[in-house]
Amino acid sequence: MVLVKDIISVIEFKAPPGLQESYDNSGLLTGRRDQEVTGILVCLDVIPEILDEAAKLGCNFILSHHPPFFSAMKQFSGNSLQEEILIRAIRNDIILYASHTNLDSVIDGVSGRMADKLGLINQRILVPREDDLIKLVCFIPASHLEAVSKAIFAAGAGTIGKYDNCSFQVSGNGTFRAGKGSHPFTGSIGTVHYEPETRFETILPKHRLNQVVKAMLDSHPYEEVAYDLFPLININPAQGLGIIGELEPDCSEPEFLKRVKEVFRLPVIRYSRMRNKQVRKVAMCGGSGIQFLNQAIFSGADIYLTADIKYHSWFDVPGSLLLADIGHFESEQFAINVLADSLIENFPKFAVYLTKVNTNPINYLL
Ligand SMILES: [Zn+2]
Repeated sequence: MVLVKDIISVIEFKAPPGLQESYDNSGLLTGRRDQEVTGILVCLDVIPEILDEAAKLGCNFILSHHPPFFSAMKQFSGNSLQEEILIRAIRNDIILYASHTNLDSVIDGVSGRMADKLGLINQRILVPREDDLIKLVCFIPASHLEAVSKAIFAAGAGTIGKYDNCSFQVSGNGTFRAGKGSHPFTGSIGTVHYEPETRFETILPKHRLNQVVKAMLDSHPYEEVAYDLFPLININPAQGLGIIGELEPDCSEPEFLKRVKEVFRLPVIRYSRMRNKQVRKVAMCGGSGIQFLNQAIFSGADIYLTADIKYHSWFDVPGSLLLADIGHFESEQFAINVLADSLIENFPKFAVYLTKVNTNPINYLL
């Protein structure tokens, strides 16, 4: 039996909810964590046709990229689309779960999949998160070094770029005197004890803090575990918004725009003045990402792909950069593959469906 909480733990390992932006409403929106899941339908937006499709497929879990509602509702008369979705979901015991800006903020998330589809190499985050990393220092007796370090890494610590299990270890002696009523793992009450220990240092992102500390405490043999947590000012290159990568080989601007049109199945692309230069460095941000135009410029990108660009923003584009609006729905269409892939990898025999409903509210007359 697969429960809602089992599905959620897979989704949240991929896109931790702590990474969502303040305006967002990602997470479990309706349903109980201990409910049984009959099937999962993955979509970008929740509209009534998605609820119909889920019912036909026998799915009681709808996993969307965009939350169907962002702000508090006070009336439930069904007069708005948001109210209708919520009422139908609750009435039919449907679980609604959204993974939105947290899925945008991981390197292999929405923008990462866009870059993969375009075949970009040397991908990195365009706008990395700041003040996100913590250094953990823990003192571990030699007999338990392997078990504790393994648990700490498994909980999400120790990743730097494409390397995991990163730590620094130095041996020394720990001292302690166990007091009355204590239960020392080693040594005896009332006597100062010297124990060979390893000072184990590693780093972790803030959103993994609770899991990592719990894993450390659960696997450590001491009654009182000595550990330090230090906030770091290093940038976290693994988390943040947008992606920049390179084309190999480079190509002309019209050639690249044609490729984008094909890959994203676009009826039309809006773009700024061409520079008549080759395109090698490509920056992108799925959805509304014009606020990162300066980061795209400073990163030396030849082109910046995003969506929802207003008229006046086009005047801010310097001659060194080509800007292209590829549509909000179109730029994020592969988000459902990102979500479905992690579920299928973890639950290979479970019913996971990608929606066949086109939820794009925008049409084009050509
Ligand atoms: Zn979006």
